[in-house]
Amino acid sequence: MITGASRGLGRAIALRLAREGYDIWANYRSAHEAAHELQAQIEETGRTCRLLPFDVCDEKQVAEALDPLLSETTPDVLINNAGFSKDTLMMWMSTEEWQSVTDVSLRGFFLVTKAVLLGMMKRRSGRIVNIASTSGQTGLPGQSNYAAAKAGLIGATRALAAEVVKRGVLVNAVAPGFIETEMTQDLPREQIIGRIPLGRLGRPEDVAGAVAFLCSHDADYIVGQVINVNGGIYG
Ligand code: NAP
Repeated sequence: MITGASRGLGRAIALRLAREGYDIWANYRSAHEAAHELQAQIEETGRTCRLLPFDVCDEKQVAEALDPLLSETTPDVLINNAGFSKDTLMMWMSTEEWQSVTDVSLRGFFLVTKAVLLGMMKRRSGRIVNIASTSGQTGLPGQSNYAAAKAGLIGATRALAAEVVKRGVLVNAVAPGFIETEMTQDLPREQIIGRIPLGRLGRPEDVAGAVAFLCSHDADYIVGQVINVNGGIYG
């Protein structure tokens, strides 16, 4: 199961995991057309794709969408990817800009993970990968809301990893740097590239590769870690 799978990183992760042989539950909020395109592409690979449109921050929607499915089965892996930024200096930041950005990364992570976790713990296996950000490690001006959300997600990753590791559930995070998606399309590209040692923005597939690794048996001994996928900009 991947949250925020209709576009960007979530979409690339869904396609990569389908190629690895997983059937996909693809959550998203509103991009129905993009989600149906993803579904068709996944079905071409021979895997199934169940679309789950709901807002990860809405407790009622999460329960209505997931409870019936989770009473039948538990996903092998959960990728908490839904997220967005609303950048502005704190001086000008509205309460809504603070709340919505921290909510989608933290409340969304909490609600969806809590729903899936019990089944994984009972089964004594599962992988959870949280999509954090370099911003949560370094802080960037204009992103006090987003940096707080992603730093919080890293803290939650480590705490939850310690809670459930003995039940066979491995929790890790991936921290992407600047990746080419709609989220970064309005940023000053040349200025950013100048700061990245690898000399380019990342591709969604670069992130999907790290996620697929953390879901694979090659990562059987990796827990509570943050894997940086950032072209060398930090770490
Ligand atoms: P994106 O292209 O804007 O896609 C965001 C996805 O999240 C969409 O599928 C969107 O669904 C979904 N979403 C947003 N709010 C949601 C909600 N409340 N409930 C359910 N789904 C929701 O963003 P992206 O660049 O792929 O980013 C994906 C994740 O990577 C985010 O957590 C982001 O913070 C993180 N990240 C991105 C970068 C980067 O450079 N792009 C760097 C570091 C970390 P709808 O379109 O249907 O609304």
